[in-house]
Amino acid sequence: MTETIPRPRGDEAGDVGGPGPLLVCAPLGIEARAIRRGLAASANPPDVTRTGPAPAVLRTGYGTTRAAQQAEALNQRRFGQMMIMGVGAGLSADLSPGDLVVGTEVGAVTCASAPLLAGELRRAGLTARTGRITTVDHLVRRSERAALAADGALAADMESAPLAAAAGTRPVAVIRAISDTPHHPLAGIVSGGLAALRSLRAAAPVAERWAAACGTRQLLLAGPRSFCAGVDRAIEIVERALERQGAPVYVRKQIVHNTRVVGDLESRGAVFVDELDQVPDGATVVFSAHGVSPMVRAEAAGRGLAVIDATCPLVSKVHAEARRFAADGYTVALIGHAGHEEVEGTLGEAPDSTILVQTAQDVAALKPRDGERVAYLMQTTLSVDEAAEVSGALRERFGSVRGPGSDDICYATTNRQVAVRAIAAESDLVLVAGSANSSNSVRLVETCQRAGTPAYLIDGAEDIQLGWLAGVSTIGLTAGASAPPAVVQEIISALSGLGPLSVSERVTTTESIRFGLPKEVRQ
Ligand code: SF4
Repeated sequence: MTETIPRPRGDEAGDVGGPGPLLVCAPLGIEARAIRRGLAASANPPDVTRTGPAPAVLRTGYGTTRAAQQAEALNQRRFGQMMIMGVGAGLSADLSPGDLVVGTEVGAVTCASAPLLAGELRRAGLTARTGRITTVDHLVRRSERAALAADGALAADMESAPLAAAAGTRPVAVIRAISDTPHHPLAGIVSGGLAALRSLRAAAPVAERWAAACGTRQLLLAGPRSFCAGVDRAIEIVERALERQGAPVYVRKQIVHNTRVVGDLESRGAVFVDELDQVPDGATVVFSAHGVSPMVRAEAAGRGLAVIDATCPLVSKVHAEARRFAADGYTVALIGHAGHEEVEGTLGEAPDSTILVQTAQDVAALKPRDGERVAYLMQTTLSVDEAAEVSGALRERFGSVRGPGSDDICYATTNRQVAVRAIAAESDLVLVAGSANSSNSVRLVETCQRAGTPAYLIDGAEDIQLGWLAGVSTIGLTAGASAPPAVVQEIISALSGLGPLSVSERVTTTESIRFGLPKEVRQ
């Protein structure tokens, strides 16, 4: 499947001039000077490696009439990307003078790369938000701000919409530095204006990095990617519990290791706790997809808590294997990562018989009760290659070692590693959507790196560093089993704002596994 995503926009103005430098449009002379100073400071010492022509900063004039005239003239100008930068009015009470608003929509133009730009501005130490910027033909009056905000705008200016339309199909972005807000209206414009100009100056090198990241690209999607059956089930359990009994619903640990999922459920009334003593008496608690040890179950029973168990059935399978081997007198070597919740749960099933081994060196140091009765199990989200190394060491040292009946590394982990390896071979770099505490997502990054392809773990589009993209023509994209599909779409959309993006999918296998829900939340 291949699909070309043209830069989203609301008009069909054609390109004139083809490739060229970054054109920075700044309405006022004072704004243009701040931006030029910022660009000069960043070039010496170099903050940006300039390989092409230096950016051109054009003073476009104050107000909608001048902006419209300038937009006409821009049709004859050669430039590669357009960045509109200037001071603007904040419409939201939580904006402060000096904050930056990066436009997601400006007039009829969609600026899809706004999340990338805002993330880079934040990493540069600036306060940046994304939102709609509206263009009006007069200075915004105090009484107008609420109405414009209610209409969905975050900032207002007098020039951006006609200028952005003049970019045609070239990448365009808008940064407005806030000088006045509902709490700091025009009376304080001198101090607010100075703060805004300082921010514009600091933002100028980031604008140049954005331009360097623009270009025509191919995006390869790994298939399968994103949610697995265990994660789908765990999220549905919390959603159904919320529907049935209303907020709050307590969840021990993160239901799945993803900040977006956790944030979304929190906003709907889920309360995530580290331990059961944070759950009030008589409340309902959900156990996360990673499972818990029998000690935690006993504590919940002792407290009379109503439990809904969202442990993935494939994790429960490993728990059952641990109990069976221990009951048969085996020492169980659990291959996994220390401190991971799943590993703690499995270790708790037979604590006197189970020993964590993380490396082949740990295998060499292993002291089983009986060398003839050694078994091994695995964390479900390990790297297939790494786990094979450790299990190989166990087989070498203990000839009669027994393994699990069927693979402990689950189908979802294995499938995503195979799929990402396939795209890594064709990509200049791979982006892996997932949170830092997601084991299977981190393993996807390592899989690419072992294949010799740079890879980065990102929670969302805002985490993509523009420097990664400069000179890169093929990007691979996947998502860990706990990362929502919507994040993948956000990333694709943001990348499409940097230039024409041709998207193809490489499907190595398809998945149809579904797990049933526990009785407490079944219809
Ligand atoms: S990654 Fe595997 S073990 Fe973990 S929840 Fe998904 S299916 Fe279950």
